[in-house]
Amino acid sequence: MLTRTEVERLAAAANALRPDWPLQSLCTFLVRDHAHRAYRDVAVALTWVATDPKTQTPKRMNELGPWWQAVAGTETSSGRYTPCDIEGDAHRSYPKGRCGACRADELAADDHTPTPAPAPIPAAYAGGANLVRQAAGLPIKEHA
Ligand SMILES: [Zn+2]
Repeated sequence: MLTRTEVERLAAAANALRPDWPLQSLCTFLVRDHAHRAYRDVAVALTWVATDPKTQTPKRMNELGPWWQAVAGTETSSGRYTPCDIEGDAHRSYPKGRCGACRADELAADDHTPTPAPAPIPAAYAGGANLVRQAAGLPIKEHA
């Protein structure tokens, strides 16, 4: 999720790389289409798109192009992420420490015990009931 400051910095960087792309248009584009992404991911993809001679406008970033593969390569300096330690294709396709399959296993292992309801607060209920009686012009009850 991009902050306003991050959007402005990314727009300034892209504007430095491509002075023909107006700063305000870049801000608008980034907020509208990429605000949900991580700062670094947008920085990598935007730089890739901005420095490619075939690029006409920053909107090219919205296509499923090799710039998103460049983003995937940011997991480690080797260009590939370290996969989850657990055996199985479902786990090995997720990065270690952020494994969707591990999270799914955790959720499946949940015992489904419902969260206990909070203990009733008779005084609060009586007070609330009396407010309703008062509003309706009915006599107020003193006992809880
Ligand atoms: Zn896993």
